[in-house]
Amino acid sequence: MAQVYNWQLGRYMSYPHAEHHPEYQFAFVFNINRCIGCQTCTMACKSTWTFGRGQELMWWNNVETKPYGGYPQYWDARLLAMLEEANPGGQVWNVSRRDAQKRPYGEFEGWTIFEAAERRPRPEFGPQAALGYLPSDDEWRSPNIHEDTPTGDVFTSNTGVTPTAEAQLPEHRVWFFHLARICNHCTYPACLASCPRHAIYKRPEDGVVLIDQSRCRGYRKCVEGCPYKKVMYRPTTQTSEKCVACFPRLEGRDPAISPTQAPAETRCMAACVGKIRLQGLVRIAPDGTWSHDPQNPIYYLVRERQVALPLYPQFGTEPNGFYIPPRWVPRSYLIQMFGPGVEHALEQYSCPDRELLAVLQLFRATQQIVFRFEIQKGPKVAEVEVTMPDGSRRVQEIFNDTVIGYNKNGEEVARVTIEEPTFERPAAWHVNSI
Ligand code: SF4
Ligand code: SF4
Repeated sequence: MAQVYNWQLGRYMSYPHAEHHPEYQFAFVFNINRCIGCQTCTMACKSTWTFGRGQELMWWNNVETKPYGGYPQYWDARLLAMLEEANPGGQVWNVSRRDAQKRPYGEFEGWTIFEAAERRPRPEFGPQAALGYLPSDDEWRSPNIHEDTPTGDVFTSNTGVTPTAEAQLPEHRVWFFHLARICNHCTYPACLASCPRHAIYKRPEDGVVLIDQSRCRGYRKCVEGCPYKKVMYRPTTQTSEKCVACFPRLEGRDPAISPTQAPAETRCMAACVGKIRLQGLVRIAPDGTWSHDPQNPIYYLVRERQVALPLYPQFGTEPNGFYIPPRWVPRSYLIQMFGPGVEHALEQYSCPDRELLAVLQLFRATQQIVFRFEIQKGPKVAEVEVTMPDGSRRVQEIFNDTVIGYNKNGEEVARVTIEEPTFERPAAWHVNSI
């Protein structure tokens, strides 16, 4: 195997192919704190791409309730258990090695799925480039199982747990959250590494990972290898399919949305009711690092402020989906899921300064991809007291700043103020139409 640098792990790791990086990389930030589990994103994707025969149980975008839900069921718990079994007690992070640029979360000292397959081969499953498993048909059957099911202490008079105590941030003792998921268009895709037909490729222009349907023979090694289980098998065509990142929109080919052919966000992003989603393209340097670009909102949130974190970075695929973790969930659960950057991210998000607050307004402000933002300063309008992750209180100053977003062509596509403007309709408009 080749040695490739994974910035999320803060070290080199084994991967079946040598490093080769795109010019831009498709990436996104989901703010879990805002997701209401409405599934509008899920249906936007389904009605665009997977409404055909044989795709009935295929959900490229899904939203699951954690900790119990999962699509396919148990996908993450099963793989975490397999990694633990391969490397007992060794799946740990060394946070003392943290370095803002090279190792923002410290160094992962455990085994990735590629390293586990290399060091503990399982010949009974045939050749495996990555540690993985093939979910059963039953596990794919219920995409929204355990919806809104919480865990934690029970509300009864004899537990000593009072509802008032539960309602306090930073951690609830009874909790669940919605985890929206799509393919992460990983930097080191396990699906691509696992395919014996070389049918999967990563586009050089935007890092989107696609399956060449004419080469695929439906061996399902990609389904087995993807740790996020974001490749799905279609029995009617006997091929595997996956999220295509709505590439015609990315290419600016929808004139209704992109009159000047500037890249647009995917359907699931554009449809998001909770305004939890922001998608972008980040420029990649030849060595695979993200080019310094602090005016790009995705770069700003992920690299500059580190308020959004990768999902299960320890798997080793360097996923390009990032999440602002939910404030009310036990930290041990979040750290397992998002790595050791959780405390820092929550600290940033709980009391955002005026710049971060302005950038957070760009979520769902436009369907076109924002490549650059600018902030115009406004007057101070409020002071609010907020609860920090350690339970302390802090006073947050709110300024009515304006954030402006520009598309790839440098055209203004979004302008949002911190204070939501109100408009009063003239009385003449109050016409009863019935
Ligand atoms: S999330 Fe899975 S399907 Fe998507 S690129 Fe990564 S390994 Fe491949
Ligand atoms: S549309 Fe947005 S708010 Fe609704 S489930 Fe999807 S990600 Fe969550």
